[in-house]
Amino acid sequence: MKTHLHALALFVAMLISMPSSFGQNNGSDKAREILSRLSLEEKVNLVVGNGMNIPGLLVAEGKDKVPGAAGSTRAVDRLGLPSIVMADGPAGLRIEPIRDSSKQRYYCTAFPVATLLASSWNTELAEEVGKAMGEEVKEYGVDVLLAPAMNIHRNPLGGRNFEYYSEDPLLSGKMAAAMIRGVQSNGVGTSAKHYAANNQETNRTLVNEKIDERALREIYLKGFEIVVKEAQPWTIMSAYNAINGTTCSENKLLLTDILRNEWGFEGLVVTDWFAGENPIVQMQAGNDLLMPGTPPQRQAILEAVKNGVLDEKILDANVLRVLQLVLKSPSYQNYPYSDQPDLEAHAQLARQAAAEGTVLLKNEGALPITDPDVRIAAFGIGSYDFIAGGTGSGDVNEAYTISLVQGLENAGYKVEAELKSTYEAYIEAEKAQRPPKRFFFELQPPLPEMPLSMDDVAPLAQKTDIALITLGRNSGEFQDRQLEGDFYLTDAEKEMIATVAAAYHKAGKKVVMVLNIGNVIETASWRDMVDAIVLPWQGGQEAGNALADVLTGKVNPSGKLPTTFPVAYEDVPSARWFPGEEVPNGKVKMMGPIVMGKEAEVTYGEGIFVGYRHYLSRGIEPAWPFGFGLSYTRFAYENLQLSGSTFKDRLEVSVTITNTGKTTGKEAVQLYLSAPSGKLEKPAMELRAFGKTKLLAPGEQQTLGFVLTPGDLCSFDPEVKAWVAEPGTYSVKIGASGSDILLSQSFELPRKMVVRNED
Ligand code: BGC
Repeated sequence: MKTHLHALALFVAMLISMPSSFGQNNGSDKAREILSRLSLEEKVNLVVGNGMNIPGLLVAEGKDKVPGAAGSTRAVDRLGLPSIVMADGPAGLRIEPIRDSSKQRYYCTAFPVATLLASSWNTELAEEVGKAMGEEVKEYGVDVLLAPAMNIHRNPLGGRNFEYYSEDPLLSGKMAAAMIRGVQSNGVGTSAKHYAANNQETNRTLVNEKIDERALREIYLKGFEIVVKEAQPWTIMSAYNAINGTTCSENKLLLTDILRNEWGFEGLVVTDWFAGENPIVQMQAGNDLLMPGTPPQRQAILEAVKNGVLDEKILDANVLRVLQLVLKSPSYQNYPYSDQPDLEAHAQLARQAAAEGTVLLKNEGALPITDPDVRIAAFGIGSYDFIAGGTGSGDVNEAYTISLVQGLENAGYKVEAELKSTYEAYIEAEKAQRPPKRFFFELQPPLPEMPLSMDDVAPLAQKTDIALITLGRNSGEFQDRQLEGDFYLTDAEKEMIATVAAAYHKAGKKVVMVLNIGNVIETASWRDMVDAIVLPWQGGQEAGNALADVLTGKVNPSGKLPTTFPVAYEDVPSARWFPGEEVPNGKVKMMGPIVMGKEAEVTYGEGIFVGYRHYLSRGIEPAWPFGFGLSYTRFAYENLQLSGSTFKDRLEVSVTITNTGKTTGKEAVQLYLSAPSGKLEKPAMELRAFGKTKLLAPGEQQTLGFVLTPGDLCSFDPEVKAWVAEPGTYSVKIGASGSDILLSQSFELPRKMVVRNED
């Protein structure tokens, strides 16, 4: 009998510790079973992370399994529950490449930043990049990638815009969903972040954002709704900021009512690092896991349950979600990670993606530079010191970054050697003067542009055939960008452009601008001085090779803007309000001696009129419109067909795209919808679908299909708490950009339509 009992106990223990794919139990049954065996202390340990090693401030328990990861959960050894590891971030896995214990290097691939990926308008490409990133996550022993970041480009000065996709929620949501599918196809998790509306860094931990419900639903939540419904991220990260008075991580409306009850989110909610103030309210709101986790949080939850302030049933629901995550993780399955992802293949993919998201803004006969004997002069420190991606948690520790000049040289082109050595010496000297970084996330001030006189440049304009000028911009977590010297050019930059343009134009030669930037800058005041403008954004470690592919014509550019470039900052719809005001004598959030943020308030006074919704509806001419990008070939748009003239449950739309030029290329096609205004004011039009052709040879054509569903016709009516479409005439507009509508056709909606998420 005793032996039998023993065998039975062993069998049960085996079932519990087996990965779900091997047992009869589904994850939830097994998680429930484990939950029933946890002590209160163990439960609390599961919902509060293991801490973080910040010298002088905090310590994590035990050694980090993967050095440089952002954090991990606590193990429950007696039940075979491992600690699971979470690491950043959006442009690639972020871990420490150098370890004391080994001579090996643990570099990760720096992929292009999200804004660049969105510029490709190619969700299949985003999924491929996700797959590759996920392989690095899995092979380096990490369980959850803290990405994608998918807040909205509300304002060009947003310090983390480069980590985010677009000013448009549909483009953001579709790109992020593709990324999530790709990463998670490896059996590792993602964390769609920062839910919601983390659109600024200024006082991000204590800023209260006043957003009307329509704007919240249509602009700031929409992308998250898309990813939940289309890709079910394993986790969602709640944001630091408060919305309408409640901090996101303590916000039951956001985390439970909307995310779970309306949209059907099945995963876990994790805080942003150190976010929120009240761990009990966080548990009650449905924020299951507090990261990186601190002893006072553990203490507070434990006491609250013991005193009856926090119902243990609520804690159990949080714990259950942590358990479900743990049971799915590679760590639980004891996955024998190799520490050797296929970095070579991923570098190739990074190059392909960077080239596909490069946007050609202007080209008056300057590009492509097909002849490798053309003598190129590369101006601007950025040409030599290329920026792969932004700083902060979104920064990847890659093995190398290819600059523009290296890329050209790798492609067999020659850049003017003397100019190159002058720049290299200047950059080295300037960098040597920089004070050392005070903390590893610190964004260092940009190097001043090297002064150039006409006497320097005129002889070069004789000696070389074409000038390239690179402008670089970097930004990152903790601070927003500056207006002067960042959004607007510095005086030295303006002078450089004017001098180079004058000298080369006098010599009858062309000037090409390269914008190595993470987000929008001012271009209207100088764009007429140059012959071509290329926007390769921050293209990851292969940026220079990818850019050379585009400049030399090996790749025909097919990127289009995911964000509007305004003529002046004042034209930006949120300019009046961004980044808000500090509350006099308000709270201050500290971490040790560091001020993390001050209590502040910002009004989203522009409502839903963000980005092109504002420019098009108000007739304000931007410098470059949303969706804009040139190609080395031309495309004809023909044969727009709608499956009916009256909307019932869905409407199919098709359009035929033909390459009518001489060069093979791809085209990103945009479908906008104009809806009748009724009770709710409607923007001039809104992006409702998009697609990208395959590579089309000259003369080749492809028909792209789109489907419109009821939600696409609707706006959110806060009074009835539902999505509503007014009866009347709707126009489907097919465009090469938001300002270049080429085909249009109408259909009727006979009766008002009301759509509820819960339906
Ligand atoms: C950032 C998150 C990041 C986390 C962990 C926070 O400061 O806002 O995006 O995932 O740190 O590194």
